Amino acid sequence: MSNSSLIPLIKDYLKQEMTLGNWDSVAPETLPPDPGDVKAYLAKKTAAAKKPDSKVESEPLSKFREPFKIGSGSKAEELKRLREYALGCRQCALCKTRSNLVFGSGDPEAKIMFIGEAPGEDEDLQGEPFVGRAGELLTDIIEKGMKIPRKSVYIANVLKCRPPMNRDPQPVEIDNCTPMLACQIRIVRPQVIIALGAFASRYLLNTKSGINALRGTFHTLSIDGMAIPVMPTYHPSYVLREYTVEVRRKVWNDVTQVMKYLNDKQV
Ligand code: SF4
Repeated sequence: MSNSSLIPLIKDYLKQEMTLGNWDSVAPETLPPDPGDVKAYLAKKTAAAKKPDSKVESEPLSKFREPFKIGSGSKAEELKRLREYALGCRQCALCKTRSNLVFGSGDPEAKIMFIGEAPGEDEDLQGEPFVGRAGELLTDIIEKGMKIPRKSVYIANVLKCRPPMNRDPQPVEIDNCTPMLACQIRIVRPQVIIALGAFASRYLLNTKSGINALRGTFHTLSIDGMAIPVMPTYHPSYVLREYTVEVRRKVWNDVTQVMKYLNDKQV
């Protein structure tokens, strides 16, 4: 195996160890002695990471944290306080591997809130939600499709820190992180939510159903005495992977229903 082909394997190995919290094993003296063993070692670790009793699935790093309490400030002030609270979060292992926390962005007074899954690589590096290719597509949907400025909506994710190698969010991570998303929803109090993909839809609607079964019709999120309509649709990353007329038509159908709902409300 050439040195250049080993570099990505070694990088993956280091990332995986950090994800699992095995800081000691990233020390040079504990690396597999023979570079040829890296591939086998990685395969073993990947299998271990998928087991429900692996460290990724285990306890939060910090056992108890006082829940955030929404105060009487303006929406912008309360979101700023919540962001500061989130920056100190160490409730799951993702705090060890993130470059930046991705809190959320947009208009605190937004009528429409988009909720995605978790930051990807670009988002992690920039600390902003939806800034990579999927972000460009979302911006097109909002600005070219819905004909409103992106800065007039509010965008957040189920998880505030990037899962390494863009793996799926784990249940323990969702459980630990979503109280902050719930606070964001309570503060912004949007008139409608567009849930991007299965993870956001399942969390908001407390269901195990798949996105194909959920998308295309309004559901309801009951929170703090509010009944917020939720429209699930495909995640922009999925649209980019399955860039067919059919998939784009379905997303357009979902978004159009949201715009019609808001227009009817204004009449
Ligand atoms: S993903 Fe959420 S719960 Fe986990 S450390 Fe980041 S902010 Fe905290």
